[in-house]
Amino acid sequence: MCGLFGIFGVKEAANYTYFGLYSLQHRGQESAGIAVYDGKKIREWKNLGLVSEVFNEEILKELPGEVAIGHVRYSTTGSSILQNAQPFCVNFAKKTIAIAHNGNLVNAYQIRCELEEDGHIFQTTMDSEVIVHLIAKNLKKGLVEAITEVMKRVRGAYSILLLYEDNLIAFRDPWGFRPLALGMLNGGYVIASETCAFDLIGAQYLRDVKPGEILIISKDGPKSYYPFKGKKTKFQRSYCIFEFIYFARPDSYIFSKNVYPIRKNLGKNLYKECPLEADFVMPFPDSGNYAAIGYSQASGLPLEFAMIRNHYVGRTFIQPSQKIRDISVKMKLNPVKEILRDKEVVIIDDSLVRGTTSKNRLKSIKEAGAKRIHFLLSCPPIKYPCFFGIDFPSSAELIAGRHSVEEIRKYLDIDTLYYLSIEGLLDAVGDLRDKVCLACFTGEYPVEVDFSFRKDIAEV
Ligand code: 5GP
Ligand code: MG
Repeated sequence: MCGLFGIFGVKEAANYTYFGLYSLQHRGQESAGIAVYDGKKIREWKNLGLVSEVFNEEILKELPGEVAIGHVRYSTTGSSILQNAQPFCVNFAKKTIAIAHNGNLVNAYQIRCELEEDGHIFQTTMDSEVIVHLIAKNLKKGLVEAITEVMKRVRGAYSILLLYEDNLIAFRDPWGFRPLALGMLNGGYVIASETCAFDLIGAQYLRDVKPGEILIISKDGPKSYYPFKGKKTKFQRSYCIFEFIYFARPDSYIFSKNVYPIRKNLGKNLYKECPLEADFVMPFPDSGNYAAIGYSQASGLPLEFAMIRNHYVGRTFIQPSQKIRDISVKMKLNPVKEILRDKEVVIIDDSLVRGTTSKNRLKSIKEAGAKRIHFLLSCPPIKYPCFFGIDFPSSAELIAGRHSVEEIRKYLDIDTLYYLSIEGLLDAVGDLRDKVCLACFTGEYPVEVDFSFRKDIAEV
């Protein structure tokens, strides 16, 4: 999980990048950074914190130039330290290259060990650094060739932006795990993880950067290269379905589809599979909102917002004793007793991961007086960890990894627990149904994962 934004050929590139990152903040809240080419050299600024905390007018003024890349980070590999914030800049042969990466590689550790034996010295614990070293190693053959080498060597999920002199470069793994979109602004170009970043700055969405594409934008305009085209190796398209279920913003287009109607379809399909009589439907906001609308429209049951969200809750840093943990759950969502008292309710949420937050929320619904509680999830049981960039824990920590639906229902202490079927999920994404990664539900990973390497870079 991470958000990327890049811009080429637009004055005040850093300011636009700031706004782009602002609208991608949901993709990562741990650190933010911008690297910009001022015509001579790359300057950068990054820090731990939210975009609005990391940048201010003075800092942005010190980042002049018309080509920039930016990143918001949610750590999946590599620990949460400033050193691991991106964009990540490296100097070699009197040149600087900056990288911003979304996704996870599954063979980074192996490559890193090989490079270290060759004398490469690593500065961070991020798998992204492996990519930069591979590029540096091959750059004398030319930029396209160097990136081609990288794409042949690394396996896993990568949507990547590079800043190299006055070139903005994007490339995406041939499976297409993570989204990446190309747009146009004032005669220049923009690239972002999600199109909601384009809407904010008034850019026009042109198309996605294609899986397996290298896109180099320079003063000669954009040029595309397809290193895998015509090769015998076929890559199964593997768009991350969890982007549709939970992660992306509903106003975005990802994998060239708008997220909002797909989330509504998930709710409609939940009703088809699990039609219930109740007083009303309600979401656990915000992630359950759109599926709840779908369920309400399909069923004709009224939609209520009986859980009120405090929008000003950030992360709680207080060390959790049980009492404090209870408070922090209530801090984010508080039930409306007046609406819930003596009612039979259908509650919709997007997903159940560890089960701990949901248990607390459902308990508070019961304490608010609800008579019967039906809890419906707009995705199937998450049983397997993700190695491609979604922050799911090990199977042992995933509640559905170790327990049956009935056991989970008892643990949650509710009347009904229902998970959308895989077919219901696939139906909701329409013609993308053969192009999505379902590994967290099925355990069938589209790329071979060498589990011995998962102890991996974070612990190096
Ligand atoms: P649980 O009950 O499993 O502890 O938490 C479920 C809630 O976590 C759901 O409301 C869901 O929207 C949210 N959720 C699902 N995936 C993620 C994730 O990757 N990160 C965060 N922060 N929340 C998630
Ligand atoms: Mg949620």
